[in-house]
Amino acid sequence: MHWKWGVLLTHKEKAEQLLQQQYHCSQALFGAFAEEIGLDLKTAFKISACFGGGMRQGGICGCITAAMLVIGMATGFYDSQDRELELYVNKKTDEFIKRFTKQMGGNVNCRDILGMDISEPTGMATIRKEGLILKKCPKALDISIDILEDMLKEHIKYITESNISLEDIPKDEDMKSLLKGIGMLRHFRRNVNNLLYSSSKETAFIQFDIRKFKIVNDLYGEKFGDEILDFITGQLSGICNDRQFFINLRSDVFMIVTEYDSEEELISFIHELDSRISYYRDVRLQMSYGVYTVEDRKMEMRQMEDRAAMARKAAKNNVLKNILFYKEQFKDSLYNRKFIEENMQAAIAERQFMMYLQPKYSIAKNEIIGAEALVRWRHPGRGMIYPDQFIPVIEENGFIKKVDYYIWEEACHFIRQCIDESINTCPVSVNVSRIHLRDNECIEMLSGMIEESGIPKELLELEITETADNQQISLKALQLKEEGFTLLMDDFGSGYSSLNILLETPFDVIKLDKKFIENMMVSKKGRLLLEQVVSMAGKLNLGLLAEGVETKDQIELLQSIGCDQVQGYYYAKPMPKEEFFELLKQQKAL
Ligand code: C2E
Ligand code: MG
Ligand code: MG
Repeated sequence: MHWKWGVLLTHKEKAEQLLQQQYHCSQALFGAFAEEIGLDLKTAFKISACFGGGMRQGGICGCITAAMLVIGMATGFYDSQDRELELYVNKKTDEFIKRFTKQMGGNVNCRDILGMDISEPTGMATIRKEGLILKKCPKALDISIDILEDMLKEHIKYITESNISLEDIPKDEDMKSLLKGIGMLRHFRRNVNNLLYSSSKETAFIQFDIRKFKIVNDLYGEKFGDEILDFITGQLSGICNDRQFFINLRSDVFMIVTEYDSEEELISFIHELDSRISYYRDVRLQMSYGVYTVEDRKMEMRQMEDRAAMARKAAKNNVLKNILFYKEQFKDSLYNRKFIEENMQAAIAERQFMMYLQPKYSIAKNEIIGAEALVRWRHPGRGMIYPDQFIPVIEENGFIKKVDYYIWEEACHFIRQCIDESINTCPVSVNVSRIHLRDNECIEMLSGMIEESGIPKELLELEITETADNQQISLKALQLKEEGFTLLMDDFGSGYSSLNILLETPFDVIKLDKKFIENMMVSKKGRLLLEQVVSMAGKLNLGLLAEGVETKDQIELLQSIGCDQVQGYYYAKPMPKEEFFELLKQQKAL
């Protein structure tokens, strides 16, 4: 029989059609999703038959088996060597069973639902022939499909690689296009697989993305951003021959697999591509290319893709080169990410995060005028882990919120302690991750903590780092300002610096980044710029503090141009709160 679905059929309608054709419910449910996952129905049924017999939980509703298959297929069930994937699918299956069981009120056994014994083949035949599953248990079908659609949407996070940030995941995207994406990826992998098996030449995985694509989107609008992606896709179609395959993995990330004879040939292919896509209209686009050259063709393809991805990420962080070849040590960063994700919950529960305090000084008075709270993670097995190693990861998965709340609370307690013990207390600034700027929770949390600890609001200062999205900062900063908080602009001069933000946003203090201070030492221009910023800050009535000050020369120079407040190793490194407490005590005694 030839199958063709009407375009407008929902998953449920497709499943119902199959059930009416007397297919087994696992086949029906699986079949409803098959096409979009990139399988024809015949293959889907074959797989379904293989797995159908081995129901995971004896006697449990066949819909569940089917559901597992759908999830399994979408995740690439056959990557049997991929232990991580196996665990993932198992986890998803458990999650499905749990949700399904709950929604069915615990009633998931076919015998209970249908009142028929399915252990006998005749029983099963009757169920199918009489369409019992449709008549007696439409609920199971509805529920299965709902949960599956939901889970597959979540799954897109996984399939589009692990480093995707939550904000990048399309929220209202049509299910169909998500599944189409999975289907395209499967198609791409099939082609690559054939290439790997048939080619006598070398093979390379090239992954690339656009540096600061977010800024391009911000500046020119998302529509323009989409045009750029279409343009790149067009150029790739032009440059790739029938033994070179490419895919747009997500957003601005593309991957090409090509065969080649020599490394020169490979590099010149990338240069040729780069020259074609480095401008769209008048906008200069800078790409980061990560290359993995295949050594062992028997390696899992996902692993090859991962390696190209690791090289791309390294290329993104490299200011000198935009093409990097995979090196073994890139793997460390992946392990690091995994370690953090697996250990972060326990770290909060077991209070492994600690607040360190770094004093801020007045050069003229030579005394402490404040402190910055900085998180440290003391892991029982791994020792001290520094923020640069874990903050980028937990900012991506949103866990930073919990860590920040913890540090903010610690800072409030510390201030409370100083007040209680009549120590000459000073303001403590805490870092506010950009993740907080998306909703109002942080304002409630901060106000709650201030109220609970009963400290004056001006003693808890907030450091916000400038990012690509200044509008978002401005909006939230205005709200925080209205609530009466003191705002410090962190890392000024390190990245996206825009002077506009100083006009648009009511910051009280600018913290000059370490790099900015270093530049002033080595170049005349740097010094001139710094002088301008100092004078501008004065005119705008803004406080100024120089970060990362390490040498006496720097101190003298800063003083000579009128910047009095500093923070850096020259005076003190970040220290445990007890140590800082003693320091404050001593200062009082002087
Ligand atoms: P930041 O807020 O700009 O903090 C200043 C960083 O510079 C700190 O690094 C500090 O130890 C370091 N530093 C201070 N003086 C010197 C110096 O003289 N020389 C050098 N080389 N470094 C100096 P740390 O503690 O490793 O933190 C790095 C970044 O991680 C922070 O930069 C901040 O963006 C983030 N961070 C730290 N703690 C937290 C936190 O609790 N929450 C959030 N959201 N971010 C945090
Ligand atoms: Mg800071
Ligand atoms: Mg800073």
